[in-house]
Amino acid sequence: MKTPNHYASFGLERMAERRNDTEWLDAMFRAETTVIWPLWRAKNFVRPGEEPQAVTLTSREARTLVDAGAELLFVGLTHSVAHFLIDLSHMDEPSRSPILGGRGEFVELRSVGSFMSRETGGMLAYGKAITYWHSRHLFCGVCGAPTEMREAGHQRVCLSPDCGISHFPRTDPAVIMLVSSGDRVVLGRKAEWVEGMYSTLAGFVEPGESLEEAVAREVEEEVGIKVANVRYHSSQPWPFPSSLMLGFYADALTEDINPSMDELEDARWFTRAELAGGGAGIDRRPRSDSIARRLIAEWVDQE
Ligand SMILES: [Zn+2]
Repeated sequence: MKTPNHYASFGLERMAERRNDTEWLDAMFRAETTVIWPLWRAKNFVRPGEEPQAVTLTSREARTLVDAGAELLFVGLTHSVAHFLIDLSHMDEPSRSPILGGRGEFVELRSVGSFMSRETGGMLAYGKAITYWHSRHLFCGVCGAPTEMREAGHQRVCLSPDCGISHFPRTDPAVIMLVSSGDRVVLGRKAEWVEGMYSTLAGFVEPGESLEEAVAREVEEEVGIKVANVRYHSSQPWPFPSSLMLGFYADALTEDINPSMDELEDARWFTRAELAGGGAGIDRRPRSDSIARRLIAEWVDQE
């Protein structure tokens, strides 16, 4: 079996059947071993430095914050230990509060995720994704009334008695693909990326479209190449802010590149030798925690 991608398969038992069992949840929350992960406006709590470390709270510490209005979400169990998220978004500067002060900072997962183990990175990514969703669904999309968290943080319900609809956390599927022709692959770069970085093409799946169709459409839109033989590789939770990356390989049927200037600053063919190193290749690879990096690395090794 393939190694899972970073942020995936971090050993979580979600225990969805317990999300309405308040007695059980309360006992879990009070357990000595329970781990509480602070979140603030979809940022994770981390002690910065050369090797950033995620900082967690005990349930005793979290209780004070919950009493002062923080929202608690049940994540699940790992090795029988319960994990909760505590969302401090209602506070202005929680990292200066008496409980959190001096212990860390709230940072973007983008800047620290690749330093984390799969277990910690997965937990941070999940926390970021679900609290981001909550922050964007405070009001009902059907009638505009306020919504309220339910199911220990896995649902929101519209509070209007005339509506009362349930809203569920959403994940946006996106395809990411490495297109090859013999000994070469197409990589592109966006203007806002760090200098010298090239990566795989990617884009969101549209309604009414299969994943294979999305791969073919995105490649043609971004670089003007037609593809066939679209093969699934693996998937990766990518909470920037709420995607699920679905990785593919595909074969190019045409060679000419016409990069879409709306999406890319440049796109070109790279040979296996260039990507394997040796100087003439790309200056900067995609982030080490990304499926993009892995799709490229595994293709290079395929020889
Ligand atoms: Zn409503």
